[in-house]
Amino acid sequence: MSNENRPIVAVVGRPNVGKSTIFNKLTGKKISIVEDTPGVTRDRIFGEVEWLNKYFTIIDTGGIEPDSDDIIVSQMRDQAMLAIDMAHVILFIVDGKGGLTAADREVAEILRKTKKAVILVVNKVDSKSQENLIYDFYELGLGNPVPVSGANSIGLGDLLDDIVESFPDGLDTQYDESIIKVAITGKPNAGKSSILNNILGEERVIVSPIAGTTRDAIDTYVERDDNKFLLIDTAGIRRRSKVYERVEKFSVLRAMTAVDRADVVLIVIDATEGVTEQDTKVAGLAHDEGKGCIFVVNKWDLIEKDNKTMINFRNQIKTKFPFMNYAPILFVSALTNQRINKILQTVMDVSYEQNRTVTTSVLNEVLGEAVMLNQPPSDKGRRLKIYYGTQTGTKPPTFTLFINDKKLTHFSYTRYLENRLRENFGFEGTSIKIEYKQKR
Ligand code: GDP
Ligand code: GDP
Repeated sequence: MSNENRPIVAVVGRPNVGKSTIFNKLTGKKISIVEDTPGVTRDRIFGEVEWLNKYFTIIDTGGIEPDSDDIIVSQMRDQAMLAIDMAHVILFIVDGKGGLTAADREVAEILRKTKKAVILVVNKVDSKSQENLIYDFYELGLGNPVPVSGANSIGLGDLLDDIVESFPDGLDTQYDESIIKVAITGKPNAGKSSILNNILGEERVIVSPIAGTTRDAIDTYVERDDNKFLLIDTAGIRRRSKVYERVEKFSVLRAMTAVDRADVVLIVIDATEGVTEQDTKVAGLAHDEGKGCIFVVNKWDLIEKDNKTMINFRNQIKTKFPFMNYAPILFVSALTNQRINKILQTVMDVSYEQNRTVTTSVLNEVLGEAVMLNQPPSDKGRRLKIYYGTQTGTKPPTFTLFINDKKLTHFSYTRYLENRLRENFGFEGTSIKIEYKQKR
């Protein structure tokens, strides 16, 4: 059996020790998070890293904003607890120049108790001659400190070697593109666990539990009709960890991590309550990250219905998520099992659409027609010219259009082109991206 159970590495440490510097060096690329997500002060807290052909996810817990009345120590304690809960390997970063602090000792005490691998990283060791800066940190009792300089990219290769060697067995560090990863998100009590259980109870589904660390309890591997899925449940977490109960933002973070790992995101909405703020955040993130999205309106059995109920509900969702018109909306009941079997079917359809490619010739026919029907915008007598386009990516489908001048592009026209592409090609359930390249 194959599975997708990717290593997660969490970065913990006091403010200003260099967490985000190191994070950025290790990931190299930006992963954006919706800007107004509360509790997330930085624009990136997740990253994908590849080292020696192994893939893992890295999370910067420093991106979590302290509660306003929180002192640094308690914030760090939360970070450490979160890291212990969700990560396989913890990078505890300290400041070699700043030296040992009381907060470092507190965190070390928590980390010493975990069975998870902890790597003590002494940052700001900017040259070989400064390596004596690490000696003070032996007393933390976390093994040999690893000297690095995030700012100068010194020691990061050795650090990556250490990280990769610390992964516990049973994790999957390779990409298996054939498994569709599905995050089940939604507010507490929306019915996520019930839906998951009903999917697992379906006759055509073969379930294989994934053995290994505790975190695996929330990932379930299933097969149906020769299709493989990994269901990532975000509900179990809340029940397992005190931290999540205490700190609401961690449940949002948890959902965001699940979204980050997923190909397709189910946004489970309680029909009796409608769309919540957390749904808005998670859906916004899923959209921004180019994930497939499906709205699952649950507890449909509890709704008194006439012939307009479904349409009204649809309109409510479409009004709240005007940028996500592409997302299918399912009305289900985990109680009566109504339409539960549609969920994996729809996931499969969306996955297919995410990975679909259109040929350059057909694409350019559609673009040509679109331009003929509705002239591109112009400015001071100069008009946007689209020379040709080509599909340059999938998941989400990405199109690069070669044009005369980027300054002449306008979001409303991009929106129009997107609509034309959808009319012709579908792409139901997935965002699509249009990028411009200037060419003279
Ligand atoms: P964070 O708050 O832990 O994420 O820390 P930052 O990554 O924002 O870094 C805090 C400060 O330390 C910044 O001014 C960085 O330029 C500086 N810094 C980061 N890494 C190094 C390093 O390796 N050497 C030195 N000398 N300064 C560094
Ligand atoms: P979670 O917190 O999102 O995992 O939600 P649960 O699956 O634990 O469900 C929360 C509560 O809603 C439980 O009491 C379920 O029995 C109930 N529930 C879940 N789905 C449905 C449904 O479709 N209809 C009704 N009437 N109740 C449901």
